[in-house]
Amino acid sequence: MKSLKIFLFMIFVAAFYSAPVFGSQTPENNLPHYLKEWAKSKKNIRGDELEKWKTISRALFTTDNCSFSKSGTVINGSETETIKIADKEIRFTFHNYVREENKIVYYSPCGKLELSFAEFKLVKKDIISAYQEAVEIAWQTHQDLNRLILDKIAGLNQMTSEELERKLKEKVGESGVTYGELAQINEIQKQDFVVNEFHFGIIEAWGLTWLNTKRILYSPQARLYDYLNDAPLVIIHELIHANPKLQKIPAAWHFDAELSASFLETLNKKSDLLTFLRHGYLNDIRWASHVFFGLDSEKIYDKIIKFRWSTNQIELDEAAFREFEAKIKLIKEELNSAIFNVILPEFYSNQLYWASVNKRFKDDNAYFKIMMSLTYDPTLLSGHHSTMKWVNENSDKIKELAEEAWKETEKDDDEKNELVVKIADFAEIFGITKEQIKSIAERYQRISVKEIKKLFQDQIAKEEEKK
Ligand SMILES: [Zn+2]
Repeated sequence: MKSLKIFLFMIFVAAFYSAPVFGSQTPENNLPHYLKEWAKSKKNIRGDELEKWKTISRALFTTDNCSFSKSGTVINGSETETIKIADKEIRFTFHNYVREENKIVYYSPCGKLELSFAEFKLVKKDIISAYQEAVEIAWQTHQDLNRLILDKIAGLNQMTSEELERKLKEKVGESGVTYGELAQINEIQKQDFVVNEFHFGIIEAWGLTWLNTKRILYSPQARLYDYLNDAPLVIIHELIHANPKLQKIPAAWHFDAELSASFLETLNKKSDLLTFLRHGYLNDIRWASHVFFGLDSEKIYDKIIKFRWSTNQIELDEAAFREFEAKIKLIKEELNSAIFNVILPEFYSNQLYWASVNKRFKDDNAYFKIMMSLTYDPTLLSGHHSTMKWVNENSDKIKELAEEAWKETEKDDDEKNELVVKIADFAEIFGITKEQIKSIAERYQRISVKEIKKLFQDQIAKEEEKK
């Protein structure tokens, strides 16, 4: 379910859905072609989680065959639109919507569709509104997070928040560089969620972001999933990947970027509950729900979802769903508060430290597990009291096992995970060889910009030739 190429993060299909201005109030004839026939189904959901999941499941089943393509096509001539959000320009490309005479023709794996200009306008309006809504949601959450991160950093440096803010703006000597820039403590701005390019089109996944490039891809089926959930969840996930102050190379090599991009998306009140129980990126969220809140997702999922082998169909056990619905909602709320008020402020105020912890523990989510353990007591043995009783009675044995496990982690350090090896692999994409990297490292003390440019000389010459 997870595909990680060096710096490519995808959401793969599992079962998921958004919708901004075109939310529930939008009349059917004001919806774009890919949502139109789902308006009535959405209306029937009426805030009921079970109905919502049934609708999402049917929508994905119905659209699956026409939603993915491994082969690309020529996209020249696809319609584009550039707008400004928070004073920053963003270019939307609507892949395979091509202007032909007095209409727009949409080319998809399931055929050609002719749209009037007015009908295409609905596509543009829908996608741009969904994106704007996603930016607002992401920005609102991170505005609060900003404050908590800065307060933490101030505390670590025994300063007041005001003193820290002044210090961060101060220049370091005569350098022209501020302390904030030097320490890479940059307040997250709304603009950071505005990417350079947004591509709407058929891809191999629902959404896709290339880290460090501010470029997002988003598919029509993801739009349908988002529409039925009534929140642009998949876009929010991609926006976290695309924000260089939250995820960038090389920092993102030292934590699980998929889990951290899923927090805001999955813990959103509108995100459907079965996604919480089954999405591949959320294994450690489910681990935490089990250990600290006694929710065994695996067992619950097996109770709710009955797979009928004889007909290859799924049947939902509605009574089982109702039994766990309220509990899952409560846990989502609690996790949301812990993650955004405690865990992420701590993680982002001392990212290098937590990257080292993750590396030492050989677990990209060690930061999350440690902080959850510091915030909550385990409850998985039939409640808090009985679990803590067992923990206290067995504390010597637990310590002994922990020490043994810790010693084990010292063995077999995988060289491939070393940062320098990863950077060398990454640099190779840009035509810089490992030998060149080694030579830079050897001369590290006196490397100049001129020397770096020299390394790129061949590359630059090739580019010039192409022009
Ligand atoms: Zn992702």
